[in-house]
Amino acid sequence: MVLFGKKYCKKGHKMDPSWKICPVCITPLTGWLVHFEEGKVSQIYDVHLGKNLVGKGEECEVRILLDSIQRHHALIMSKDGEYKLIAQSSESLVMVNGNDISSINLIDGDMITLGKSEFKFKSI
Ligand SMILES: [Zn+2]
Repeated sequence: MVLFGKKYCKKGHKMDPSWKICPVCITPLTGWLVHFEEGKVSQIYDVHLGKNLVGKGEECEVRILLDSIQRHHALIMSKDGEYKLIAQSSESLVMVNGNDISSINLIDGDMITLGKSEFKFKSI
């Protein structure tokens, strides 16, 4: 994917034009955010080991280009089989299983609301 002279991998991560492999995509996979729209799976986003900034920004490891998602919406830290979700700004609505949160440990099957979008968290 090449836009306006910049290079992106197929997941939308910004890459140096000289890179052949995306450094984010080769980090070990530890889970997924499954986006649901009208009760159906619309897209699956990979969660990798370590830091996963979630948002619209091209520096985000989990790049979600949806209207109600902020540039830096949330952060998922994945380490030692544990997953922590942290809201990134006062404008970012982040809910887990229907409760407003600023920071929480995620478990497999949690329902996450980011802005107006619904995701199910799946761990490996
Ligand atoms: Zn990538």
